[in-house]
Amino acid sequence: MEATKSFLDQVLPQATASWAHIMANYSPQKIEFVGTLIVQLLSFWLPSICYMLLEVIAPSFSQRHKIQPAPKQPTCHEIAHCFIVVLQNQILTSILHLILISAASYAGIKSTYRIETPLPAPIEILRDVVLSLLIREALFYYSHRILHIPALYIPIHKKHHRFTAPIALAAQFAHPIEHIFANTLPISLPPQLLGSHVVTFWVFLAYELVNTATVHSGYDFFHNKAKMHDLHHEKFNLNYGSLGLLDWVHGTDQLKKHRTA
Ligand SMILES: [Zn+2]
Ligand SMILES: [Zn+2]
Repeated sequence: MEATKSFLDQVLPQATASWAHIMANYSPQKIEFVGTLIVQLLSFWLPSICYMLLEVIAPSFSQRHKIQPAPKQPTCHEIAHCFIVVLQNQILTSILHLILISAASYAGIKSTYRIETPLPAPIEILRDVVLSLLIREALFYYSHRILHIPALYIPIHKKHHRFTAPIALAAQFAHPIEHIFANTLPISLPPQLLGSHVVTFWVFLAYELVNTATVHSGYDFFHNKAKMHDLHHEKFNLNYGSLGLLDWVHGTDQLKKHRTA
């Protein structure tokens, strides 16, 4: 307890001073755009690449922890194609973010995130992250289920399902429409609806991106966290959500039945 207190006592004033320095030297628009991009690079691209390198660096360890067998894994050509599509999606959402920020600034509208010098209290961060997780679950579950309607599945969502044995980067291997409406908005909207501090948004974004890279990684790490969504990629008609809450409510959480069948 004492150690935790002294660690926080040391870190918090430093973090507060660094944040005040950033706020004093850069525009809110620049802070929102660059900060969000840095979080995407550190919590999606970096862990995704680490997960994928595991197969090259430690092949036998990787084989032992892969959920699906080797013959089902994607080829090098498919992985390279995945990288290009995910990079295009990253560029698309970054350009859209830049356009929205610039248009709002031009019209004199403040950001929908709170970008201010006082940092949010840890309890406020915790409250907003928990509420954002619940709102995101609803937005993602229903947008994902709508994407499974045949009229939308074939032209849009089928692309994301191309990886029946997913890899971390395939989390964002998706049609641009899906990437905006099912991936980006369900994560960026909840903190905006709650009027959260931009730092809280980054904490939530970082968690969601590490989580999506992990559930698509194809590995059984973190108590088999990937198994639920991995099974969605394998069987298509179950586990649409992220937390499992709405799958339980709607009876689409049939993991056990499928595994034991
Ligand atoms: Zn997926
Ligand atoms: Zn799906």
